[in-house]
Amino acid sequence: MSPASRARPKRKRRPPNPYTGWAKRLARTRPGLVPFVLDRLAELHGHQTWERRLDPTSELVLTILTQSTADVNAEHGFEALRRAYPSGGPVERHVPGKGWGGAGLPDGAAPDWYAVEHAPYPELVEVIRPAGLPFAKAKAIQASLEAIRAARGDYSLEFLGELPALEARDWLDAIPGIGVKTASVVLLFSFGMPLLPVDRHVERVAHRVGLLPKKATVAEAHDYFLAMLEPNQMHEAHVNLIHHGRAVCHARRPNHDACPLLPRCRFVDPKAP
Ligand code: SF4
Repeated sequence: MSPASRARPKRKRRPPNPYTGWAKRLARTRPGLVPFVLDRLAELHGHQTWERRLDPTSELVLTILTQSTADVNAEHGFEALRRAYPSGGPVERHVPGKGWGGAGLPDGAAPDWYAVEHAPYPELVEVIRPAGLPFAKAKAIQASLEAIRAARGDYSLEFLGELPALEARDWLDAIPGIGVKTASVVLLFSFGMPLLPVDRHVERVAHRVGLLPKKATVAEAHDYFLAMLEPNQMHEAHVNLIHHGRAVCHARRPNHDACPLLPRCRFVDPKAP
């Protein structure tokens, strides 16, 4: 038998992870960019402390209501749910914090989720109309509640707090109508899990500065951030990026002069360090 025929079969190499690959490349080609962005944003917008915003089921429904609309409209939609389907349960305090674009919900009990799930669809559409896109949102809310009840026997999502972050994200992401952003919002704000929800503001600032590859989609951006940041940086990074996108790095007329990221922003200077 020739030596070649005795050679062991080659072990297959694992395909490279594009997210960690990008994080390493960024650290090599633009050293210190990530801490520069986080530090400058914290100097401008402050350090953020995590506090639970709402019960996770309420957070999920409120986040569905925020899709493609201003947070203040989502608040109106959630308030309408509380009025139309009162539960008489314990009062919740909404602690919106910086980064939330509305005024915050008044204290009140969560809606009766059984009644919301089983409400006639046209009725639910009318109830949540103030939040915009009521047809799609009513469908997503009822499908989510149905999926949670079918899997767990009730509407509580507290069990997610016992799972590793990515497992919990996959569980929510598997529900029709729930994407990785909505799942990340629920897990970050209800449990403090190390995830970074990427909405249009976060994506815009990150793309402009050059934190993300040019062709990265919003869904992929979530995993690029997980590769770039330490777990304890996620909450503050999310809040300050979203706030920066709203207050300074506007979509149409970004206020470069008021922006501490200017010296390293590739939107302004494609060769910025
Ligand atoms: S320098 Fe301008 S484009 Fe760049 S992050 Fe700041 S505001 Fe946005």
